[in-house]
Amino acid sequence: MTAQDCIFCKIVAGEIPSRKVYEDEEVLAFHDIRPVAPVHFMIIPKAHVASLADCTEAHRDLLGRILLLAPRLAREQGLTSGFRTMINTGRGGGQEVFHLHVHVFGGGPLRPM
Ligand code: AMP
Ligand code: ZN
Repeated sequence: MTAQDCIFCKIVAGEIPSRKVYEDEEVLAFHDIRPVAPVHFMIIPKAHVASLADCTEAHRDLLGRILLLAPRLAREQGLTSGFRTMINTGRGGGQEVFHLHVHVFGGGPLRPM
């Protein structure tokens, strides 16, 4: 899939609506349309990167920023007792949207991993 028909690139561009949680120059966070928990949002880079497996040294700072945002945004969304993060990578990892995203969810019972 190219960036042109990437659904998350369209969300970044404002061509598809989303329920925004956070935005800065490099990063966007928005609620998942099919939540698996009472609170479920995703943090994505604004620039198209297909998956974690496509990241390089050049993405080091961006990945750090995204991960550090997770606890802050989780707290702001009311997940004060904790949350789960998930990054599905590739078909074998259950990835459906090939634009890197970190799931953050919680606020209810979670299955043990
Ligand atoms: P993954 O399996 O990690 O690739 O998950 C993709 C996630 O994107 C799923 O949890 C979907 O519910 C979510 N999703 C797909 N389209 C949208 C959309 N337009 N707005 C918000 N979330 C979406
Ligand atoms: Zn994209």
